[in-house]
Amino acid sequence: MSNSVSETLLLRGGRLHDPAHGIDGQIADLWVRDGRIVEPQLRADREVSLAGRVVMPGGIDLHSHVAGPKVATGRRMQRPAEPGMPEAVPTIHATGRLYAALGYTTVFDAAIATSAAGLAHMELAELPVLDKGIYLLAADDDEVVQALARGTADEVARCVGDRVKASRAWAVKVANPGGNRFWKAGRRGDQRDLHEPLPGLDLSGREMLARLAQAVSDLGLPHRLHVHTINLGLPGNWRTTLETMKAFDGLPAHLAHIQFHSYLGGDADETTFGSGVEPLVTWFNEHPELSLDVGQVLFGSTMAMTGDALAAEHLASVTGVPWSAHDGFLEGGCGILPVTYREKSLVHAWQWAVGLEWFLTVADPWRIALSTDHPNGAHFTAYPTLMRLLGDEAFRREAFARLHPTVRRNSPLAHLTREYTLNELAIITRAAPARLAGLPQKGHLGVGADADITVYRPNADLSAMFAMPAQVYKAGLLVAEDGHLRQASPGHVLAAM
Ligand SMILES: [Zn+2]
Repeated sequence: MSNSVSETLLLRGGRLHDPAHGIDGQIADLWVRDGRIVEPQLRADREVSLAGRVVMPGGIDLHSHVAGPKVATGRRMQRPAEPGMPEAVPTIHATGRLYAALGYTTVFDAAIATSAAGLAHMELAELPVLDKGIYLLAADDDEVVQALARGTADEVARCVGDRVKASRAWAVKVANPGGNRFWKAGRRGDQRDLHEPLPGLDLSGREMLARLAQAVSDLGLPHRLHVHTINLGLPGNWRTTLETMKAFDGLPAHLAHIQFHSYLGGDADETTFGSGVEPLVTWFNEHPELSLDVGQVLFGSTMAMTGDALAAEHLASVTGVPWSAHDGFLEGGCGILPVTYREKSLVHAWQWAVGLEWFLTVADPWRIALSTDHPNGAHFTAYPTLMRLLGDEAFRREAFARLHPTVRRNSPLAHLTREYTLNELAIITRAAPARLAGLPQKGHLGVGADADITVYRPNADLSAMFAMPAQVYKAGLLVAEDGHLRQASPGHVLAAM
Protein backbone atom coordinates (compact mmCIF):
# COMPACT_ATOMS: atom_id res chain seq x y z
CA MET A 1 0.00 0.00 0.00
CA SER A 2 1.38 3.42 -0.92
CA ASN A 3 2.33 5.95 1.71
CA SER A 4 2.64 9.75 1.68
CA VAL A 5 5.78 11.82 2.07
CA SER A 6 4.56 13.81 5.11
CA GLU A 7 3.92 10.68 7.19
CA THR A 8 6.46 9.46 9.68
CA LEU A 9 7.41 5.98 8.54
CA LEU A 10 9.15 3.42 10.71
CA LEU A 11 10.95 0.58 8.92
CA ARG A 12 11.46 -1.79 11.81
CA GLY A 13 14.10 -4.41 12.41
CA GLY A 14 15.77 -4.87 9.02
CA ARG A 15 19.26 -6.28 8.60
CA LEU A 16 21.12 -3.15 7.43
CA HIS A 17 24.04 -3.02 5.00
CA ASP A 18 25.26 0.58 5.20
CA PRO A 19 29.01 0.43 4.50
CA ALA A 20 29.43 4.23 4.68
CA HIS A 21 28.72 3.88 8.43
CA GLY A 22 30.50 0.57 8.93
CA ILE A 23 27.16 -1.23 9.36
CA ASP A 24 27.43 -4.79 8.07
CA GLY A 25 24.24 -6.74 8.66
CA GLN A 26 23.28 -5.34 12.09
CA ILE A 27 19.56 -5.22 12.89
CA ALA A 28 18.24 -1.67 13.28
CA ASP A 29 15.23 0.59 12.69
CA LEU A 30 15.03 3.35 10.08
CA TRP A 31 12.83 6.41 10.59
CA VAL A 32 11.70 8.35 7.51
CA ARG A 33 9.99 11.72 7.16
CA ASP A 34 9.72 14.33 4.36
CA GLY A 35 11.77 12.18 2.02
CA ARG A 36 14.76 11.87 4.36
CA ILE A 37 16.07 9.47 6.96
CA VAL A 38 15.53 11.14 10.35
CA GLU A 39 16.37 10.62 14.02
CA PRO A 40 14.04 8.25 15.95
CA GLN A 41 10.66 9.96 16.51
CA LEU A 42 8.17 9.67 19.37
CA ARG A 43 5.62 7.90 17.20
CA ALA A 44 5.19 6.64 13.66
CA ASP A 45 2.17 7.18 11.37
CA ARG A 46 2.99 3.93 9.68
CA GLU A 47 5.17 1.00 10.65
CA VAL A 48 6.53 -1.73 8.38
CA SER A 49 8.28 -4.81 9.78
CA LEU A 50 11.45 -5.67 7.87
CA ALA A 51 12.31 -8.63 10.11
CA GLY A 52 14.45 -11.10 8.22
CA ARG A 53 14.99 -8.68 5.30
CA VAL A 54 18.24 -7.28 3.92
CA VAL A 55 18.20 -3.47 3.68
CA MET A 56 20.51 -1.33 1.54
CA PRO A 57 20.51 2.24 0.22
CA GLY A 58 18.94 2.60 -3.25
CA GLY A 59 21.20 1.57 -6.13
CA ILE A 60 23.12 4.23 -8.07
CA ASP A 61 24.18 3.71 -11.67
CA LEU A 62 26.96 6.17 -12.41
CA HIS A 63 27.49 5.07 -16.01
CA SER A 64 24.56 4.15 -18.24
CA HIS A 65 22.98 5.24 -21.53
CA VAL A 66 19.27 5.89 -21.20
CA ALA A 67 18.36 9.09 -23.11
CA GLY A 68 19.30 11.34 -26.02
CA PRO A 69 19.74 10.84 -29.77
CA LYS A 70 21.99 7.76 -29.77
CA VAL A 71 19.67 5.89 -27.41
CA ALA A 72 16.76 6.84 -29.71
CA THR A 73 18.71 5.51 -32.71
CA GLY A 74 19.45 2.33 -30.77
CA ARG A 75 15.72 1.87 -30.14
CA ARG A 76 15.08 2.26 -33.85
CA MET A 77 17.77 -0.26 -34.82
CA GLN A 78 16.87 -3.04 -32.37
CA ARG A 79 14.98 -6.21 -33.18
CA PRO A 80 11.89 -6.99 -31.09
CA ALA A 81 12.82 -8.58 -27.75
CA GLU A 82 12.16 -12.24 -26.94
CA PRO A 83 8.84 -12.75 -25.11
CA GLY A 84 9.21 -11.84 -21.44
CA MET A 85 12.57 -10.10 -21.96
CA PRO A 86 13.10 -6.32 -21.85
CA GLU A 87 14.05 -4.52 -25.04
CA ALA A 88 17.83 -4.03 -25.36
CA VAL A 89 17.08 -0.29 -25.42
CA PRO A 90 13.82 0.23 -23.49
CA THR A 91 11.56 3.27 -23.77
CA ILE A 92 12.27 5.95 -21.19
CA HIS A 93 9.21 4.83 -19.18
CA ALA A 94 10.24 1.17 -19.20
CA THR A 95 13.78 2.21 -18.26
CA GLY A 96 12.51 3.87 -15.08
CA ARG A 97 10.14 1.03 -14.27
CA LEU A 98 12.84 -1.63 -14.71
CA TYR A 99 15.48 0.29 -12.74
CA ALA A 100 13.04 1.01 -9.90
CA ALA A 101 11.88 -2.60 -9.72
CA LEU A 102 15.56 -3.57 -9.50
CA GLY A 103 16.07 -1.29 -6.48
CA TYR A 104 17.92 1.49 -8.32
CA THR A 105 16.95 5.08 -7.49
CA THR A 106 19.57 7.21 -9.31
CA VAL A 107 20.99 7.00 -12.84
CA PHE A 108 23.39 9.07 -14.93
CA ASP A 109 23.50 9.10 -18.70
CA ALA A 110 27.21 9.13 -19.34
CA ALA A 111 27.49 10.69 -22.81
CA ILE A 112 25.39 13.64 -23.97
CA ALA A 113 26.72 16.14 -26.54
CA THR A 114 26.07 19.81 -25.74
CA SER A 115 23.78 20.01 -28.80
CA ALA A 116 21.77 17.01 -27.50
CA ALA A 117 21.36 18.17 -23.89
CA GLY A 118 17.94 19.76 -24.48
CA LEU A 119 16.57 16.59 -26.06
CA ALA A 120 18.09 14.40 -23.31
CA HIS A 121 16.45 16.53 -20.61
CA MET A 122 13.07 16.37 -22.38
CA GLU A 123 13.30 12.59 -22.28
CA LEU A 124 14.68 12.40 -18.75
CA ALA A 125 11.75 14.51 -17.54
CA GLU A 126 9.63 11.48 -18.50
CA LEU A 127 11.85 8.98 -16.66
CA PRO A 128 9.77 7.78 -13.71
CA VAL A 129 10.98 7.44 -10.12
CA LEU A 130 14.75 7.89 -10.46
CA ASP A 131 16.87 10.96 -9.82
CA LYS A 132 18.90 11.54 -12.95
CA GLY A 133 21.71 13.54 -14.46
CA ILE A 134 23.80 13.79 -17.61
CA TYR A 135 27.53 13.82 -18.23
CA LEU A 136 28.35 16.36 -20.91
CA LEU A 137 30.66 15.55 -23.82
CA ALA A 138 32.06 19.05 -23.43
CA ALA A 139 35.31 18.21 -25.21
CA ASP A 140 33.41 17.47 -28.43
CA ASP A 141 32.37 21.12 -28.54
CA ASP A 142 34.59 23.04 -30.95
CA GLU A 143 34.91 26.17 -28.78
CA VAL A 144 36.02 24.02 -25.86
CA VAL A 145 38.60 22.30 -28.06
CA GLN A 146 39.90 25.67 -29.24
CA ALA A 147 40.15 26.85 -25.62
CA LEU A 148 41.97 23.64 -24.67
CA ALA A 149 44.46 24.22 -27.51
CA ARG A 150 45.02 27.95 -27.06
CA GLY A 151 43.41 29.26 -23.88
CA THR A 152 44.63 29.74 -20.32
CA ALA A 153 43.42 27.41 -17.56
CA ASP A 154 40.90 30.10 -16.52
CA GLU A 155 39.55 30.38 -20.05
CA VAL A 156 39.18 26.61 -20.35
CA ALA A 157 37.34 26.42 -17.02
CA ARG A 158 35.03 29.30 -17.99
CA CYS A 159 34.28 27.75 -21.39
CA VAL A 160 33.58 24.31 -19.90
CA GLY A 161 31.61 25.78 -17.00
CA ASP A 162 29.36 27.81 -19.35
CA ARG A 163 28.41 24.62 -21.16
CA VAL A 164 27.86 22.56 -18.02
CA LYS A 165 25.55 25.30 -16.73
CA ALA A 166 23.66 25.78 -20.00
CA SER A 167 23.24 22.02 -20.40
CA ARG A 168 22.19 21.45 -16.75
CA ALA A 169 24.85 18.73 -16.63
CA TRP A 170 26.23 16.93 -13.59
CA ALA A 171 29.71 16.12 -14.87
CA VAL A 172 32.12 16.39 -17.78
CA LYS A 173 32.80 13.30 -19.86
CA VAL A 174 35.48 12.94 -22.50
CA ALA A 175 35.02 10.16 -25.07
CA ASN A 176 38.01 9.13 -27.17
CA PRO A 177 39.92 12.40 -26.54
CA GLY A 178 40.49 13.95 -29.95
CA GLY A 179 39.65 10.70 -31.73
CA ASN A 180 36.55 11.95 -33.49
CA ARG A 181 38.62 14.75 -35.03
CA PHE A 182 41.02 12.16 -36.51
CA TRP A 183 38.05 10.13 -37.70
CA LYS A 184 36.35 13.09 -39.37
CA ALA A 185 39.62 14.14 -41.00
CA GLY A 186 39.80 10.67 -42.61
CA ARG A 187 42.88 9.79 -40.50
CA ARG A 188 41.37 6.74 -38.82
CA GLY A 189 44.46 4.88 -37.64
CA ASP A 190 46.67 7.88 -36.89
CA GLN A 191 46.03 8.33 -33.17
CA ARG A 192 48.09 5.42 -31.89
CA ASP A 193 49.06 7.11 -28.68
CA LEU A 194 48.05 10.14 -26.67
CA HIS A 195 51.01 12.24 -27.85
CA GLU A 196 49.83 12.58 -31.46
CA PRO A 197 48.66 16.20 -32.12
CA LEU A 198 45.01 16.48 -33.15
CA PRO A 199 44.51 17.40 -36.84
CA GLY A 200 45.21 21.12 -37.32
CA LEU A 201 45.76 21.79 -33.61
CA ASP A 202 48.67 22.18 -31.24
CA LEU A 203 46.98 19.84 -28.75
CA SER A 204 47.51 16.16 -27.99
CA GLY A 205 45.01 13.78 -26.42
CA ARG A 206 47.16 13.69 -23.30
CA GLU A 207 47.14 17.50 -22.98
CA MET A 208 43.41 17.47 -23.57
CA LEU A 209 42.89 15.01 -20.67
CA ALA A 210 45.15 16.89 -18.25
CA ARG A 211 43.63 20.31 -19.05
CA LEU A 212 40.07 19.02 -18.80
CA ALA A 213 40.78 17.36 -15.44
CA GLN A 214 42.22 20.69 -14.26
CA ALA A 215 39.12 22.58 -15.46
CA VAL A 216 36.78 20.14 -13.69
CA SER A 217 38.83 20.51 -10.52
CA ASP A 218 38.91 24.35 -10.83
CA LEU A 219 35.14 24.45 -11.32
CA GLY A 220 34.62 22.28 -8.23
CA LEU A 221 32.18 19.98 -10.01
CA PRO A 222 30.81 17.17 -7.81
CA HIS A 223 32.16 14.36 -10.03
CA ARG A 224 35.75 14.17 -11.26
CA LEU A 225 36.51 14.11 -15.01
CA HIS A 226 34.80 11.03 -16.50
CA VAL A 227 37.15 9.47 -19.05
CA HIS A 228 36.62 7.08 -21.95
CA THR A 229 40.10 6.97 -23.37
CA ILE A 230 41.39 6.25 -26.89
CA ASN A 231 41.56 2.84 -28.59
CA LEU A 232 38.41 1.38 -27.02
CA GLY A 233 38.05 -2.31 -27.83
CA LEU A 234 41.35 -2.59 -29.70
CA PRO A 235 43.93 -5.34 -29.09
CA GLY A 236 46.97 -4.00 -27.23
CA ASN A 237 45.11 -0.98 -25.85
CA TRP A 238 46.36 -1.56 -22.28
CA ARG A 239 49.36 0.62 -23.16
CA THR A 240 47.29 3.71 -23.98
CA THR A 241 45.12 3.04 -20.91
CA LEU A 242 48.21 3.08 -18.69
CA GLU A 243 49.35 6.26 -20.43
CA THR A 244 45.91 7.73 -19.71
CA MET A 245 46.16 6.87 -16.00
CA LYS A 246 49.49 8.72 -15.91
CA ALA A 247 48.18 11.80 -17.76
CA PHE A 248 46.31 13.29 -14.79
CA ASP A 249 49.37 13.87 -12.66
CA GLY A 250 47.63 13.42 -9.30
CA LEU A 251 44.31 15.07 -10.23
CA PRO A 252 41.24 12.91 -9.63
CA ALA A 253 39.79 11.15 -12.68
CA HIS A 254 37.28 8.36 -13.30
CA LEU A 255 38.05 5.73 -15.93
CA ALA A 256 34.86 4.54 -17.57
CA HIS A 257 34.21 0.94 -18.70
CA ILE A 258 37.83 -0.05 -18.04
CA GLN A 259 37.15 -3.59 -19.31
CA PHE A 260 37.01 -2.33 -22.90
CA HIS A 261 40.44 -0.70 -22.46
CA SER A 262 42.45 -3.56 -20.94
CA TYR A 263 43.55 -5.88 -23.75
CA LEU A 264 46.81 -7.45 -24.81
CA GLY A 265 47.44 -8.29 -28.42
CA GLY A 266 48.58 -7.18 -31.83
CA ASP A 267 46.69 -5.86 -34.84
CA ALA A 268 45.43 -8.73 -36.95
CA ASP A 269 46.41 -11.81 -34.95
CA GLU A 270 43.42 -12.80 -32.80
CA THR A 271 45.43 -15.47 -30.96
CA THR A 272 47.51 -12.81 -29.19
CA PHE A 273 44.38 -11.16 -27.73
CA GLY A 274 44.20 -11.43 -23.96
CA SER A 275 44.07 -9.73 -20.59
CA GLY A 276 46.15 -6.60 -19.97
CA VAL A 277 44.63 -6.06 -16.52
CA GLU A 278 47.67 -6.89 -14.40
CA PRO A 279 49.90 -3.84 -15.17
CA LEU A 280 46.86 -1.55 -15.09
CA VAL A 281 45.42 -2.73 -11.78
CA THR A 282 48.89 -2.56 -10.23
CA TRP A 283 49.10 1.15 -11.15
CA PHE A 284 45.47 1.75 -10.18
CA ASN A 285 45.83 0.18 -6.74
CA GLU A 286 48.76 2.50 -6.02
CA HIS A 287 46.97 5.70 -7.15
CA PRO A 288 44.05 6.61 -4.86
CA GLU A 289 43.12 9.64 -6.99
CA LEU A 290 41.79 7.30 -9.70
CA SER A 291 38.43 5.53 -9.76
CA LEU A 292 36.71 3.36 -12.36
CA ASP A 293 33.66 1.47 -13.46
CA VAL A 294 34.04 -1.84 -15.21
CA GLY A 295 31.68 -2.05 -18.22
CA GLN A 296 31.27 -5.80 -17.69
CA VAL A 297 30.32 -7.90 -20.71
CA LEU A 298 27.66 -10.57 -20.11
CA PHE A 299 26.69 -13.10 -22.77
CA GLY A 300 23.68 -12.42 -24.97
CA SER A 301 22.37 -9.84 -27.44
CA THR A 302 22.50 -6.12 -26.83
CA MET A 303 23.10 -2.78 -28.56
CA ALA A 304 26.49 -1.06 -28.61
CA MET A 305 26.35 2.74 -28.53
CA THR A 306 29.22 5.12 -28.03
CA GLY A 307 30.32 8.71 -28.53
CA ASP A 308 33.41 7.11 -30.09
CA ALA A 309 32.52 6.67 -33.78
CA LEU A 310 35.91 5.15 -34.51
CA ALA A 311 35.32 2.28 -32.06
CA ALA A 312 31.85 1.61 -33.50
CA GLU A 313 33.19 1.65 -37.06
CA HIS A 314 35.91 -0.82 -36.07
CA LEU A 315 33.40 -3.14 -34.40
CA ALA A 316 31.13 -2.95 -37.45
CA SER A 317 34.06 -3.81 -39.73
CA VAL A 318 35.04 -6.92 -37.73
CA THR A 319 31.49 -8.19 -37.21
CA GLY A 320 30.03 -7.22 -40.60
CA VAL A 321 26.95 -5.80 -38.86
CA PRO A 322 25.37 -2.61 -40.28
CA TRP A 323 25.94 0.41 -38.05
CA SER A 324 24.72 3.94 -37.70
CA ALA A 325 27.01 6.96 -37.32
CA HIS A 326 25.29 9.83 -35.64
CA ASP A 327 26.69 13.33 -35.34
CA GLY A 328 24.74 16.05 -33.57
CA PHE A 329 25.55 19.15 -35.67
CA LEU A 330 28.84 17.48 -36.60
CA GLU A 331 29.77 17.65 -32.93
CA GLY A 332 31.19 14.41 -31.57
CA GLY A 333 30.85 11.17 -33.47
CA CYS A 334 28.34 8.67 -32.24
CA GLY A 335 28.21 5.04 -33.41
CA ILE A 336 25.46 2.48 -32.81
CA LEU A 337 25.22 -1.20 -33.75
CA PRO A 338 23.71 -4.46 -32.47
CA VAL A 339 26.10 -6.96 -30.85
CA THR A 340 25.76 -10.52 -29.53
CA TYR A 341 28.36 -11.72 -27.00
CA ARG A 342 29.06 -15.47 -27.13
CA GLU A 343 30.80 -17.74 -24.59
CA LYS A 344 32.60 -19.64 -27.32
CA SER A 345 33.95 -16.53 -29.05
CA LEU A 346 37.60 -16.06 -28.11
CA VAL A 347 37.33 -12.27 -27.97
CA HIS A 348 33.98 -12.19 -26.11
CA ALA A 349 35.13 -14.79 -23.59
CA TRP A 350 38.24 -12.67 -22.95
CA GLN A 351 36.09 -9.58 -22.47
CA TRP A 352 33.93 -11.37 -19.89
CA ALA A 353 37.01 -12.65 -18.05
CA VAL A 354 38.83 -9.29 -18.18
CA GLY A 355 35.89 -7.49 -16.56
CA LEU A 356 35.66 -10.00 -13.71
CA GLU A 357 39.44 -9.93 -13.28
CA TRP A 358 39.17 -6.17 -12.67
CA PHE A 359 36.43 -6.61 -10.06
CA LEU A 360 38.43 -9.30 -8.25
CA THR A 361 41.85 -7.60 -8.26
CA VAL A 362 41.00 -3.99 -7.36
CA ALA A 363 42.01 -3.77 -3.70
CA ASP A 364 39.71 -0.92 -2.61
CA PRO A 365 36.01 -1.47 -3.43
CA TRP A 366 35.33 2.24 -2.74
CA ARG A 367 37.08 3.14 -6.00
CA ILE A 368 35.19 0.76 -8.29
CA ALA A 369 31.58 0.93 -9.44
CA LEU A 370 29.54 -1.89 -10.91
CA SER A 371 28.51 -1.17 -14.49
CA THR A 372 27.90 -2.97 -17.74
CA ASP A 373 28.05 0.37 -19.57
CA HIS A 374 24.36 -0.36 -20.28
CA PRO A 375 23.53 -1.40 -22.91
CA ASN A 376 27.06 -1.81 -24.33
CA GLY A 377 28.35 -4.76 -22.27
CA ALA A 378 24.92 -5.99 -21.17
CA HIS A 379 21.50 -4.72 -20.15
CA PHE A 380 21.24 -3.22 -16.64
CA THR A 381 18.64 -5.86 -15.77
CA ALA A 382 21.59 -8.32 -15.84
CA TYR A 383 23.23 -6.63 -12.81
CA PRO A 384 21.91 -9.35 -10.44
CA THR A 385 23.69 -12.00 -12.53
CA LEU A 386 26.89 -9.98 -12.32
CA MET A 387 26.47 -9.61 -8.55
CA ARG A 388 26.16 -13.38 -8.25
CA LEU A 389 29.27 -13.87 -10.38
CA LEU A 390 31.15 -11.67 -7.88
CA GLY A 391 29.62 -13.06 -4.70
CA ASP A 392 29.42 -16.77 -5.54
CA GLU A 393 32.66 -18.39 -6.63
CA ALA A 394 31.05 -21.76 -7.47
CA PHE A 395 28.60 -20.03 -9.82
CA ARG A 396 31.48 -18.12 -11.43
CA ARG A 397 33.48 -21.32 -11.87
CA GLU A 398 30.56 -23.01 -13.67
CA ALA A 399 30.31 -20.08 -16.06
CA PHE A 400 34.09 -20.04 -16.54
CA ALA A 401 34.01 -23.73 -17.52
CA ARG A 402 31.82 -22.89 -20.53
CA LEU A 403 34.25 -20.33 -22.01
CA HIS A 404 36.43 -20.66 -25.09
CA PRO A 405 39.23 -23.11 -24.09
CA THR A 406 42.07 -20.64 -24.72
CA VAL A 407 40.59 -18.25 -22.19
CA ARG A 408 40.12 -21.05 -19.65
CA ARG A 409 43.78 -21.94 -20.11
CA ASN A 410 45.24 -18.42 -19.96
CA SER A 411 42.98 -16.16 -17.92
CA PRO A 412 44.18 -15.19 -14.42
CA LEU A 413 40.50 -15.56 -13.46
CA ALA A 414 41.11 -19.32 -13.16
CA HIS A 415 43.06 -18.65 -9.94
CA LEU A 416 40.96 -15.87 -8.40
CA THR A 417 38.89 -17.20 -5.52
CA ARG A 418 37.71 -13.90 -3.99
CA GLU A 419 33.99 -13.60 -3.24
CA TYR A 420 32.34 -10.23 -2.66
CA THR A 421 30.46 -10.00 0.65
CA LEU A 422 27.01 -8.38 0.81
CA ASN A 423 28.64 -5.23 2.15
CA GLU A 424 31.15 -5.17 -0.70
CA LEU A 425 28.28 -5.61 -3.17
CA ALA A 426 26.53 -2.70 -1.42
CA ILE A 427 29.70 -0.63 -1.81
CA ILE A 428 30.11 -1.12 -5.56
CA THR A 429 26.39 -0.64 -6.37
CA ARG A 430 25.45 2.29 -4.10
CA ALA A 431 27.93 3.56 -1.49
CA ALA A 432 30.94 3.98 -3.81
CA PRO A 433 29.04 5.31 -6.85
CA ALA A 434 27.35 7.89 -4.56
CA ARG A 435 30.71 9.00 -3.19
CA LEU A 436 32.43 9.00 -6.58
CA ALA A 437 29.58 10.83 -8.31
CA GLY A 438 29.58 13.45 -5.54
CA LEU A 439 26.22 12.72 -3.91
CA PRO A 440 26.73 13.08 -0.13
CA GLN A 441 22.99 12.66 0.55
CA LYS A 442 22.86 9.29 -1.22
CA GLY A 443 24.38 5.82 -0.98
CA HIS A 444 24.00 5.56 2.80
CA LEU A 445 21.34 5.19 5.51
CA GLY A 446 22.45 7.87 7.97
CA VAL A 447 20.29 10.71 9.34
CA GLY A 448 19.84 13.34 6.61
CA ALA A 449 20.24 10.94 3.71
CA ASP A 450 17.61 10.78 0.99
CA ALA A 451 15.25 7.97 2.02
CA ASP A 452 16.14 5.86 -1.05
CA ILE A 453 15.97 2.37 0.45
CA THR A 454 15.92 -1.09 -1.10
CA VAL A 455 14.64 -4.12 0.82
CA TYR A 456 15.62 -7.65 -0.27
CA ARG A 457 14.62 -11.14 0.77
CA PRO A 458 17.84 -12.99 1.66
CA ASN A 459 18.56 -15.82 -0.76
CA ALA A 460 21.62 -18.02 -1.28
CA ASP A 461 21.02 -17.42 -4.99
CA LEU A 462 22.25 -13.81 -5.10
CA SER A 463 20.96 -13.35 -8.62
CA ALA A 464 17.38 -14.14 -7.53
CA MET A 465 17.80 -12.00 -4.41
CA PHE A 466 18.98 -8.87 -6.24
CA ALA A 467 16.64 -9.29 -9.23
CA MET A 468 13.46 -8.85 -7.20
CA PRO A 469 13.56 -6.53 -4.17
CA ALA A 470 10.57 -6.96 -1.86
CA GLN A 471 10.21 -3.17 -1.50
CA VAL A 472 11.87 -0.09 -2.95
CA TYR A 473 11.47 3.35 -1.36
CA LYS A 474 12.42 6.53 -3.21
CA ALA A 475 12.51 9.74 -1.15
CA GLY A 476 10.49 7.87 1.48
CA LEU A 477 7.73 6.72 -0.88
CA LEU A 478 7.10 3.07 -1.66
CA VAL A 479 7.74 3.00 -5.44
CA ALA A 480 8.09 -0.71 -6.22
CA GLU A 481 7.10 -3.99 -4.61
CA ASP A 482 8.00 -7.48 -5.87
CA GLY A 483 8.80 -6.18 -9.34
CA HIS A 484 5.68 -4.01 -9.67
CA LEU A 485 5.72 -0.23 -9.85
CA ARG A 486 3.58 1.33 -7.11
CA GLN A 487 4.18 5.03 -7.85
CA ALA A 488 5.70 6.68 -10.91
CA SER A 489 6.28 10.26 -9.84
CA PRO A 490 9.36 11.68 -11.63
CA GLY A 491 12.60 12.06 -9.72
CA HIS A 492 14.82 15.14 -9.64
CA VAL A 493 17.29 16.37 -12.21
CA LEU A 494 20.77 16.53 -10.74
CA ALA A 495 22.48 19.64 -12.12
CA ALA A 496 25.92 20.71 -10.91
CA MET A 497 25.75 24.49 -11.43
ZN1 LIG B 1 29.27 4.35 -21.81
